[in-house]
Amino acid sequence: MKVLVINAGSSSLKYQLIDMETEKAIAKGGCERIGIPGSFLKHKANGKEVTITQDMPTHKAAIELMLAALVDKDHGAIKDMSEIDAVGHRILHSGGDYDRSVLIDDEVKRVCLSNADLAPLHQKANIMGVDACKAVMPNVPMVATFDTAFHATMPEKAYIYGLPYEYYEKYKVRRYGAHGTSHRFVSQEAAKYLNADVNNFKVITCHLGNGSSISAVKNGKCYDTSMSFTPLGGVPMGTRTGDLDPAILEYLSDKTGMDIHELLFMCNKKAGVMGVSGVSSDFRDLRNAAEEGNHRAQLALDIFAYSCKKYVGAYAAAMGGVDAIVFTAGIGEHDHLVREGVVDGLEYMGVVIDKEKNAAPTDGICDITGKGSKVKVLIIPTNEELVIARDTAEIVNNL
Ligand code: ADP
Repeated sequence: MKVLVINAGSSSLKYQLIDMETEKAIAKGGCERIGIPGSFLKHKANGKEVTITQDMPTHKAAIELMLAALVDKDHGAIKDMSEIDAVGHRILHSGGDYDRSVLIDDEVKRVCLSNADLAPLHQKANIMGVDACKAVMPNVPMVATFDTAFHATMPEKAYIYGLPYEYYEKYKVRRYGAHGTSHRFVSQEAAKYLNADVNNFKVITCHLGNGSSISAVKNGKCYDTSMSFTPLGGVPMGTRTGDLDPAILEYLSDKTGMDIHELLFMCNKKAGVMGVSGVSSDFRDLRNAAEEGNHRAQLALDIFAYSCKKYVGAYAAAMGGVDAIVFTAGIGEHDHLVREGVVDGLEYMGVVIDKEKNAAPTDGICDITGKGSKVKVLIIPTNEELVIARDTAEIVNNL
């Protein structure tokens, strides 16, 4: 069985064609600048990498170009479209309506669109991807995998804010979290790797990338997560603030004259480690600058690790202990100093890492637990596309 995984954004569309027998991507790529002059597709398959520059005024045009690349005799991966058995779509928001992946029908689309207010740009773009695929492949079953669905199991006390309750009832204001497919994947991989009984396993998953979130996963279910109503909450990120006292916004508005939209733009795009350092949102640049003695770059790195550490401590308390800590995503997988900084000082909780293994991890899953540690510490490369493909295959095989 071959599953096409689609992640449609407002002006981009990423894809992978996954062969479910090997669970490997046989083709992958992305269309950029959809609806903007200068659109192009980057495609990798059959040992070749091509860039095709062509106008893509709509998502449908992007899907058509992607399909043409997939069946191309030179750089394609399949003979014809009929080899695509199903399509799995990454959809940002389940709005608390779905706790798992679902087959897309008109009702699911309606619910997705009714939740568009919760993530206006992303959700509508995700649905544009669905519509474009349906137009080009009307008979291929499609599945929605939601970024927030894994967090649907959080207890009320973790997702209700200290706001008047009516805002939750009337407007669905609550914690939703994000990166759910990643937290689910790495928490399950950790249980498998450690031969743990999933029903008796407490793991803290640290997805640290451009966007970062930390989850408490208790007995296979999400118990709490750091991202919030939107992906702006939690730890400070590349350009996002993370948690912030909302009174700061009124104060800054008075001082600078910025309105709420300008302030939110700043919080999303100009804050986080970029804002603190004034150097970059990229951790490699920050490391280089810090090594050259840039204080604010070092400060940004310190703030990030310290904030992650506080979440680890909080989630160990929330779950009544922790059996494993997992690091994943760009920073979690590659920045050993961040990992060291996050667990530094947690020896009292039984967390010790092997500094040598941490500094030189092997490919794939890497156990960096130190001698005498009660808590396992792992690096697990995430694979959100595989989760989407697995869910899609399971649902479609049971039709
Ligand atoms: P996204 O959230 O966009 O998927 P990624 O998970 O790819 O992001 O993570 C991107 C981040 O990972 C960047 O900040 C980058 O600095 C960091 N990163 C990637 N490789 C390394 C590395 N070798 N060392 C330190 N940081 C890295």
